[in-house]
Amino acid sequence: MSTPAIGIVHTKIVATIGPACRGEESLASLVQAGVDVFRLNMAHGSIEEHQETLDRVRRVSDAAARPVGVLVDLGGPKIRLGELPGGLAECVEGAEVCFVRDRPAAMNEFTTTYAPLVDELAAGDSVMLADGTVSLVVEERLADRVRCRVVQGGAVRSRQGVNLPGVKLSVVSMSADDWRHAEWAAQAGADFVSLSFVRSPVEVRLLKELLRTRGSRARVVAKIEKREALDDLAAIVEAADVVMVARGDLGVEIDVAGMPMVQKQIIRMCQRYQKPVIVATQMLDSMQHSRRPTRAEATDVANAILDGADACMLSGETAIGDHPRLVVEMMRRIAGATERQYIADRREFISEQAGRSRTGVGLTAGEFMPAPEYLVEGLHPITQAVVDGAGRIAAELDARLVVVASKSGVTAIARSKRRGSVPTVGVSDAPATLRQMALYWGVTPLAVECTDTNQLLEHICEWGLRSGRLQRGDRILLVAGTGFGAGGHNMALVHEV
Ligand code: PEP
Repeated sequence: MSTPAIGIVHTKIVATIGPACRGEESLASLVQAGVDVFRLNMAHGSIEEHQETLDRVRRVSDAAARPVGVLVDLGGPKIRLGELPGGLAECVEGAEVCFVRDRPAAMNEFTTTYAPLVDELAAGDSVMLADGTVSLVVEERLADRVRCRVVQGGAVRSRQGVNLPGVKLSVVSMSADDWRHAEWAAQAGADFVSLSFVRSPVEVRLLKELLRTRGSRARVVAKIEKREALDDLAAIVEAADVVMVARGDLGVEIDVAGMPMVQKQIIRMCQRYQKPVIVATQMLDSMQHSRRPTRAEATDVANAILDGADACMLSGETAIGDHPRLVVEMMRRIAGATERQYIADRREFISEQAGRSRTGVGLTAGEFMPAPEYLVEGLHPITQAVVDGAGRIAAELDARLVVVASKSGVTAIARSKRRGSVPTVGVSDAPATLRQMALYWGVTPLAVECTDTNQLLEHICEWGLRSGRLQRGDRILLVAGTGFGAGGHNMALVHEV
């Protein structure tokens, strides 16, 4: 069955690459279906394989004439079980299991990839295995082992993740592998690099520094998946360029019952700091094998968008699932249907409020999200004011597009985070900036080669008429700089096509 046309979709889709979609044809098909950014998960595969995959993404993106971003996801300090005899062990409720330093000598002895664990656990700590399905409590720490009792039993496999809710470890934020992967990402021209298990803003700054000193302009994504990150959330969000609500590990590190409100809290913080935010993991999980999502999954995607997510991420669904393309189409359809109703509802709400007060709840007819409290790093206050003003003028004039010229992409972020009612086109002559814009809610990246205002308008009108985004007589708003002033965009220009 073909997918019904749904027009422009503002919410961006991040898809994880894995064996199910690594081929060039599959990647091209996913781009056609609506993927905006591909994630390379460095926890699996060699650098050579990732380089091949990245080259393929660049080729299919060029062939489709659509900027597509690449996110290199560093594994970070994820602790895993060591090898188990036969690859499998059963943890029986009430039984004793031990973490040991060296080779396990008995069936109930486990090693991990983090040797100092045996020194850092304390009586009363909880240990979660196998994605939280098996839980242990530490009873005693001895010189060579930690004795634990199984609270909730189940099977565990070699190399499965070990989560330690609330336990503060001295493990370094980036392993030797992470450094190698980050250096490769910088040299390969990755658009985003994410750090897993972030615990403090210092770790984010360290990765930023590493990338900058290697000449990379990649934006750093802080994956929020530990209690410690929630305890220092504002500072981490401020330090990061982009944030990911990494629900897979976060939902084990904290009580899963608290997950929905924590997701909203993280997204709200990103709104305050104007940081793009990705909601990840199990969004359409059942579609790994099924051709349709559950009602709850469809609702989860919609709710993430209503919470303020800029992008939704697919993991196993595209990496190892049976229907990678179908799942991308489904996510796009859910996003399209949600946004249509969302935009109609917000318009109605805002016009009702405007009837009572001109400023009402801090929203104007042109914007659906409250004004941020902090400027995006690198954004001049003049630019913020001009972008916001242009959004309001565009709404008042019922303009078709707000066109934002952006060298680094920060102006596009400022526009994107207000969720303007008029669609946005981000224009740039820098391919890397365009690929980063692919992640920003509501922004269509468009390559231009000119910087002269008249040529720019001519180019945009030509593109708009050709693509059906504009018709003669339509109004557009252009946000750009005249080269005069303090380095900000100081011009909002109304143009009639
Ligand atoms: C997550 O934990 O939700 C996540 C996105 O990280 P990973 O897929 O690397 O486990």
